[in-house]
Amino acid sequence: MILLNRGFMERDDAIVDIEDRGYQFGDGVYELIRVYDGVCFEMEGHVQRLKLSSLKIELALPYPLEDIARNLKQLVEKNGLLNGYIYVQITRGVAQRVHHFPGSVSSVLVAYVQHAERPVEKTKHGIHAILTEDIRWKRCDIKSLNLLPNVLAKQLAKKHGCDEAIMHRGSTVSEGSSTNVYIVERNVIYTHPINNLILNGITRIGVLQMARENGFRVVEEAFTVNELLETDEVFVTSTALEICPVIQIDHTLIGNGKPGLVTRTFQQAFEHRIAFNSGIN
Ligand code: PMP
Repeated sequence: MILLNRGFMERDDAIVDIEDRGYQFGDGVYELIRVYDGVCFEMEGHVQRLKLSSLKIELALPYPLEDIARNLKQLVEKNGLLNGYIYVQITRGVAQRVHHFPGSVSSVLVAYVQHAERPVEKTKHGIHAILTEDIRWKRCDIKSLNLLPNVLAKQLAKKHGCDEAIMHRGSTVSEGSSTNVYIVERNVIYTHPINNLILNGITRIGVLQMARENGFRVVEEAFTVNELLETDEVFVTSTALEICPVIQIDHTLIGNGKPGLVTRTFQQAFEHRIAFNSGIN
C-alpha cells in the first residue's frame, strides 16, 4: 500500500501526472524516516523538518502535520513493515508548466515504505570515501527534491569503489552527499555548524546530544580538508547509514585505518536509543 494525499491504495493504482512540478522542476521536499521493529524512529524530528523545508520554499502542506504523521504510521502498519524506511515527498502539485508558482494548485503528498536491513557491515568495519567539490546551491538546509549534485557525487564515489563522497567548498568540508561529517581530534568532536550550507540531519541532532551527555566537547565549527585527512577519527551519520566510521578518504588512511573508539562509543549509545524507541510502541 502507498499513501497518496490522504488515501491509501495499491502502488499500481497510484497515478502521478506528467505535469507534477516535482517531476518537472524538482519543486518539492522530502523525508526518509527509519523504522526499527515496526516503530518509526525520530518521527517528530522528521515531520518538523518536512514542515520547515516546505515553509522555506513557500509550499503549503496538503493537510495538517499531525495527520501526516498519523498516516505515515498507519502506512507502516498497513504494510506490516518491521525494518526499513518510509519515503515521503510533497510537491507543489500539478499545473501547466510555468517556472513561477502556478495560481491555485494543491500540493501532492506521496509516501511509501521499503524494507531494509540495518547497514551492519558498513557500521562495523567502516567505509571508504572520496573527496569532491561541493557544487550545490546555497540552500542545502532545505531537504528539496533537487538532488542532482548529490547523485553525481555519490556516483563518483561508487565509480571509485567507495560508499560516500565527502564534499568541500574550497578548503572547507561541508557534508557528505547523503550524510553529515564529523572529525574527532583528541576526544573533541568537530562538525560543520547548522547554516544554509548543510542539512540539519536528524541523526546529527541525536549524535551531538549523545556526545554531550557522554561528556564529550562538541565544536560546531567547519574544518578543512587537511584537518579531515589528518585527524584521529572520521565518521558520518544519516538515517540510512546511522553512525558509520570512515576509515579511508581517497588514498589516505584515517587514524590507524580502523573504526575509532569515540565512534564506537556513539554507536553503542545509538543502540540504546533504538532499543528505547522500540519500547515506546
Ligand atoms: N546531509 C545530506 C545532504 C543528506 O541527504 C542527509 C540524509 N537525509 C543527511 C545529511 C543526514 O540527515 P539525516 O540524519 O536526517 O538522515
